Amino acid sequence: MGQTSLGQSTRPRSVTDGVRIYRPGGTHVVGDGFHVRNLFPSNDLDRELSPFLMLDYAGPTFYPATDEPRGVGEHPHRGFETVTIIYQGIVAHRDSAGNAGNIGPGDVQWMTAASGIIHEERHEREWAKRGGTLQAIQLWVNLPKTSKMSAPGYQTLVSDQIPVVQLDGGAGALRVIAGSLRGLKGPAKTFTPIELYDLRVRVGHRIPLEVPGGFNVGLFVLSGLVSVEGSRPVTEAELAVFASTGQPVGITAKEDTTILVMAGEPIHEPVARYGPFVMNTKEELVQAVNDYQAGKMGHLH
Ligand code: MN
Repeated sequence: MGQTSLGQSTRPRSVTDGVRIYRPGGTHVVGDGFHVRNLFPSNDLDRELSPFLMLDYAGPTFYPATDEPRGVGEHPHRGFETVTIIYQGIVAHRDSAGNAGNIGPGDVQWMTAASGIIHEERHEREWAKRGGTLQAIQLWVNLPKTSKMSAPGYQTLVSDQIPVVQLDGGAGALRVIAGSLRGLKGPAKTFTPIELYDLRVRVGHRIPLEVPGGFNVGLFVLSGLVSVEGSRPVTEAELAVFASTGQPVGITAKEDTTILVMAGEPIHEPVARYGPFVMNTKEELVQAVNDYQAGKMGHLH
């Protein structure tokens, strides 16, 4: 793949333990509006991607026109953040903290559930009336113990707010959603150090991806074909995972490729999960269920 073992041994290493590549699971439906394939925590990927907890890839799925918008009705979350990135279609959200909004192609919704929130996620009504293709990612980002019971928050990051880095030599473009690259800062406020990029690499180009050392990195390929540090080709709906040493990682596009780059400083704390709740201990999960059932996470109005 263009690199000999000799070549690798004489250069600083850019990844630890090599690059691992994962396929998505089978399609399941969340509510009646999101046909998703999960990449993790299935695939036995648990701590390797901390602080990221879950990635569901929705679509691309065509939904016929309807007067009753599909989606997922009200449900709770506590202890983490949900990040929704839209590539095609329009999704509407409203929550018990009084936040509501629509996000479309290029937009990102960064919802901090923290101490608890009730929300619903649906196809936007006018979009649903026309019908169309939905393509989106939902990523769950863990919160450190000290922030799990903070007040809920909500950030709508519209496409115009997200800075674009043009890559050298016409190699493509990178949108900085969170973190910073070459002095351009993404609009998302995060609790721990996180880089989140929408990366497009043009066929035939090789780019050096710079990620801080010690970060866990996931490269999710939405379309196209790439090799990562000489790995086997990574294709549609596959995820490449590695830990960064701080050296640039070579990404070679064999087709025009769209990648979601997620990188973060791991949170070295116990993780206890139960459905929509992610805490540090079982006792905290029991408390979350009790608080939800007692109505302490609020209500939708
Ligand atoms: Mn949700």
